Amino acid sequence: MADASALAVTSAVAPAVRLAGLVYDYPDGRRALDGVDLSIAAGESTALVGPNGAGKSTLLLHLNGLLPGRDGLFRRRPPSVWIDGLDASRHGAEVRRKVGLVFQDPDDQLFSTTVLEDVAFGPLNLGAAKAEARRLALECLERVGLADAADRPPRHLSFGERKRVCLAGVLACEPSVLVLDEPTANLDPRGRRRFLELIGSLPATKLIATHDLEMVLEICPRTVVLDAGKIVADGPSRAVLDDAALLEAHGLERPLSLLVGR
Ligand code: ADP
Repeated sequence: MADASALAVTSAVAPAVRLAGLVYDYPDGRRALDGVDLSIAAGESTALVGPNGAGKSTLLLHLNGLLPGRDGLFRRRPPSVWIDGLDASRHGAEVRRKVGLVFQDPDDQLFSTTVLEDVAFGPLNLGAAKAEARRLALECLERVGLADAADRPPRHLSFGERKRVCLAGVLACEPSVLVLDEPTANLDPRGRRRFLELIGSLPATKLIATHDLEMVLEICPRTVVLDAGKIVADGPSRAVLDDAALLEAHGLERPLSLLVGR
């Protein structure tokens, strides 16, 4: 009992995401994260930018426990990931329930015969009754503008529509932290705009790994720059993305809208 109430107090004041000294080596020995310290407050919308190979995807995968445990290294290390105050190495199931991860490629995420089944899968898996899972799935499909597609096979939908199905699937699990890997990659301008507005309207804490710096300026007040597994900058997006020397040193370019002074 004492432990549970202590946890509740911790959660009430804890950041939504906290990483402390996070180190990760892939089984082949490659160091992908090299001592990452990061704290994200509840409701904050943060961009994670950096060149290819910086460690962005590896970092995201740690937030819902997809990576630790694949090899034996993590368990021997001190705890380094907390979600809403919960130590991810001890509360894996609860942490996975809190964190919704939308993959870059929707085809890594979709596998059911119909869109509705796909979106209902998460809530069912979390223990919702069939009718409740269906209700939640339909509600989330409505939110992403795809209620009409409920009975269609996901493979018949466009790339942008499949991305929105993935988002609906994650929203149906009611996560408190939304983690997105390259949400606007490979979308056409209209699909990008639509997805961006959708993400921007969601109240959850967000961490978004992306190369789309214009999107960052629109929906992420804070930007973290990662390179070679280390955080090299962290601050207001306008300031970070207007720092030409910093960006050049880490393989990035100032967004056009800042160059032309919009
Ligand atoms: P980013 O998402 O920023 O492009 P990643 O997290 O994918 O970076 O990769 C970080 C580093 O980890 C890179 O050096 C990459 O080569 C390496 N890496 C990624 N996945 C694996 C893997 N499955 N096995 C070994 N090394 C990997």
